[in-house]
Amino acid sequence: MTGQIQPIRGMNDVLPAESVVWQHLESTVRELLVGYGYEEIRVPVVEHTDLFKRAIGEYTDVVEKEMYTFTDQGGDNLTLRPEITAGIARAMISNGLLRGARHKLWSIGPVFRHEKPQKGRYRQFYQVDVEAVGFTGPDVDAELIAIWARLWRRLGITRVKLQINSLGTPDSRRVYREKLVEYFSAHRDRLDDDSRRRLGGNPLRILDSKNPDVQALVADAPLLTDYLDPESQAHFAALRAALDAMGIQYTVNPRLVRGLDYYSRTVFEWITDALGAQDAVCSGGRYDGLITQLGGDATPAIGFAMGIERVVELLQQLPSQPQSLAADVYVVLNGEQAVGAGGRIVESLRDALPHRRFEMNLGGGNFKAQFRRADRSRAALALIIGENELARGVVALKPLRLEAGQSECPMTELPGRIEAALRGTDLQE
Ligand code: ATP
Ligand code: MG
Repeated sequence: MTGQIQPIRGMNDVLPAESVVWQHLESTVRELLVGYGYEEIRVPVVEHTDLFKRAIGEYTDVVEKEMYTFTDQGGDNLTLRPEITAGIARAMISNGLLRGARHKLWSIGPVFRHEKPQKGRYRQFYQVDVEAVGFTGPDVDAELIAIWARLWRRLGITRVKLQINSLGTPDSRRVYREKLVEYFSAHRDRLDDDSRRRLGGNPLRILDSKNPDVQALVADAPLLTDYLDPESQAHFAALRAALDAMGIQYTVNPRLVRGLDYYSRTVFEWITDALGAQDAVCSGGRYDGLITQLGGDATPAIGFAMGIERVVELLQQLPSQPQSLAADVYVVLNGEQAVGAGGRIVESLRDALPHRRFEMNLGGGNFKAQFRRADRSRAALALIIGENELARGVVALKPLRLEAGQSECPMTELPGRIEAALRGTDLQE
């Protein structure tokens, strides 16, 4: 077979020019979460299909049509994770980490959903996932929101808004559910096939429909907020008070229900008007029942996930962009002997100056070609190692971004001279 291998539709390569933005985002996220006492957890990208069916719920878009499911060579039914929360909950149970303990966790990695690819909607995309396990809230609910309000500030992203709502408890939802079934049954002819199926299975899912005709019907449906139990009302009021106290702006959106089944009480979403149709950048909520549903000890928990591609897109719209790091020193080699000596000298310089970035000229080339590469590396300094100089125990240094000439330096003084020269350029920048 010949011909070019094609990439998979909806699965992207992140090329070096863009990975700078990803790294900036990821390191900001890491730093921030460490500052709030959250610890990283990594879980497999593949799990038993049943995990997602039980966690996410049968009547969701994700489980009904978006999962990458396959049977492996041993006959196990497996699925590429469509989100990270279920895997983390499973890991807490499998590793015996619950038993009343509390965990503040985060994770980052790819997730897979067989959706219709378009801008901001892919089949493999990355999520940052944050979970607080063992906390009843509402204080932790407010903390999770506060962390991300701070993330937007640190990143300089302003076009995001917070929406919150409360879904109450499963008990209080039962009454509401009946009201919903009544309402949608009366307008059955205006529902699409998906919604009709959900009417019997899980009518709340209809509220989450992306079909504009169904959305028009949803606009007049009864409100869950009118059926909240008193404890959930108090929980929600305390969350709003905490957000007010921290000066975090939000709107209560009584129509906000999340796409996954396992939520209870607090749900929230950060949305943007800067990405067209794909407006959700970060979504989450409380899932007090999930861990029991997966066979673990009853444990309250709350978490959210941010879609990295969409936030990268927001960052790329900002006027100032993170740049890839320039080299500090580009090493130019002149003559056969210089090649061998060059490697030895640069390796010892890396020992002496571990925080400096050295880029070695690779693949030969004449002086002019090497200096062109040195320029492209954006290095502040060229280190020129030549046969004649080596014979005298010296090398040459040439600042590349300052009007200054080349100077010779005895080998023994090299680390100190390089550091001093780089400090000089650091100061001038
Ligand atoms: P949407 O309403 O856009 O389908 P969702 O409700 O399915 O989002 P979640 O399952 O809560 O989203 O996932 C968390 C975040 O992951 C979203 O807020 C969004 O930023 C991002 N996301 C979801 N689906 C995709 C996708 N197919 N491609 C890229 N990012 C996505
Ligand atoms: Mg979706």
